[in-house]
Amino acid sequence: MMVCSGILERLVAGRWIAGPFIADAITRSKRINSLGIRPIINYLGEEFSSETDVNDAVATYIKLISEIRKSRIKADISLKASQLGLRISEGMFMGNYSRIVAEARRNNVFVWLDMESAADVDATISAYTAQLKSGDGVGICIQSYLKRSGSDIRSLSKSGAVIRLVKGAYSSTRRLAYQSRLETTANYARLMKYLFSHAKEFVIATHDPGMVSMAQRLNAAHRKHVGYAMLNGISNKRAIKLAREGNHVEIYVPFGTRWLSYSYRRLKEASNLSLVLRSVLGGG
Ligand SMILES: Cc1cc2nc3c(=O)[nH]c(=O)nc-3n(C[C@H](O)[C@H](O)[C@H](O)COP(=O)(O)OP(=O)(O)OC[C@H]3O[C@@H](n4cnc5c(N)ncnc54)[C@H](O)[C@@H]3O)c2cc1C
Repeated sequence: MMVCSGILERLVAGRWIAGPFIADAITRSKRINSLGIRPIINYLGEEFSSETDVNDAVATYIKLISEIRKSRIKADISLKASQLGLRISEGMFMGNYSRIVAEARRNNVFVWLDMESAADVDATISAYTAQLKSGDGVGICIQSYLKRSGSDIRSLSKSGAVIRLVKGAYSSTRRLAYQSRLETTANYARLMKYLFSHAKEFVIATHDPGMVSMAQRLNAAHRKHVGYAMLNGISNKRAIKLAREGNHVEIYVPFGTRWLSYSYRRLKEASNLSLVLRSVLGGG
């Protein structure tokens, strides 16, 4: 079993995750920068209920910001509410998020807030909105599988939010969320159209070729400050092609040792065996 998980870790770590250390994230980011792409670096870890784990995450992000500046790479970072203390108290999460944003602003690093389960959306948006009021350099992820996201995007866009639109890697009840990929994709298209008509700056984060093509058509008509983002190791060739065509492209690069939950979500999305093998072994 140990051998099996070691092999899986090496395969997954090599393909989706930069490696265990900040230095691995920086090395991978330099390579990504050389392709004209901006990495979004995420320190793996979520659902922390221990203050020690939360403090480690905060300290790691502060060190990461300093390493980004020292190595002169162009990179954003992305945080999770549940790794910054939301499971302990909303105040702890807000305080830690605010501390990291302040440090990132001092060093000119853009800070994304990932979106987790449906129960976390209110606290995540409320922390984000508070930071947005105090300055720029912050963005938030919104998921099209949630029925509330249309209304969230409308109010966030009015306050000048920078939105990263995804389909959503979580699931929820029929009352709160679309249950099929088809409905989630249809809502993704609706939300994307809204962003092109009403938002100033946003990121289309998907590997779905249909959604990327639709975004390119909409951009030809609206000429917005739009970016495209993909997860490391899934559609890298397509990301490189988009960057070569002159688009702003970002690749989400996780690092750290807590790779299991992240990898489980990616394996679930690569819903058939050939996709799993392609995604893990290469050919992205
Ligand atoms: C930059 C970025 C940031 C993200 N941040 C968040 C977040 O904060 N919160 C959140 O809930 N979700 C986040 N996600 C994940 C997102 O919600 C989706 O779960 C994920 O992107 C898969 O959806 P898709 O849009 O690619 O469409 P899908 O319909 O799932 O996939 C479209 C096609 O992409 C390919 N593909 C997708 N996933 C895989 C895979 N794992 N292996 C191989 N091929 C694959 C397949 O060809 C598939 O047919 C993020 C995604 C990106 C790209």
